[in-house]
Amino acid sequence: MAVELNFSAFDRQCNWTLCADDAPMKLTDVVPAGWALADGLAELARESDEQVSCQKGCSACCSYLASLSVPETLRLIDDIQSLPPDKQEDVRRRFGANADGVIAAWPPEQFDAADQSRTFESFGQWYSRLDMTCALLDDDACSLYDMRPIVCREHLVSFDRRRCDDARVAGESISMPFSPAVAISALAADLENTEIEAVMMPLTYVWAADNSQRADRSFPAELVLDRFAQVIHSQCIENIIATVPTALAG
Ligand code: SF4
Repeated sequence: MAVELNFSAFDRQCNWTLCADDAPMKLTDVVPAGWALADGLAELARESDEQVSCQKGCSACCSYLASLSVPETLRLIDDIQSLPPDKQEDVRRRFGANADGVIAAWPPEQFDAADQSRTFESFGQWYSRLDMTCALLDDDACSLYDMRPIVCREHLVSFDRRRCDDARVAGESISMPFSPAVAISALAADLENTEIEAVMMPLTYVWAADNSQRADRSFPAELVLDRFAQVIHSQCIENIIATVPTALAG
């Protein structure tokens, strides 16, 4: 089964297809589609007039806070189990150390629950001050590069690479028509009938201790694909509307 995605990105009209088998889908089954969408958008950005600074081998963003959707968090635990045993042990130990660091420093001193964008920004700045690197970063390379989170794929910058070392500019990125990471968060909330949730990546195992059973739930594939296409479509519309005042002002 398949559903069509139609959107414009970087002055191109795109017509992509989301596919799945007929079998019921678990939340983790949707993650590869999110990876493919994020990689596809990154490819479009690279083919456009944008000067994309990001490339494999750069780890400048790997000390910033990565937040994961519920499906990605559940999937990441599975994917870590694909690493060699000694590597798994090392990664889990480093996740544990980072989680301890987050919990010891909690709560962030700057917090504005009424303003979601500022909340996320201040979370990011607070996390940067903890001075931690991702538990998956090994010798300046991602241990799970092909299975890295969507946020690590879709966050692209176009400015001088040297500015990436300045945490104050970490929030600036190339504008995308939609965020596959946010779309998967919204999809999971829709399917599970919950609020939209995001998990701080260092707390992956802490969160999973109470939520791992959610990996067992499955949903009709047709429902998953339809809802996924709907949330992406809604995001595209919202982003178009959000850019109109800017365009008119210019
Ligand atoms: S998952 Fe990989 S790419 Fe993402 S922050 Fe960690 S090391 Fe970097």
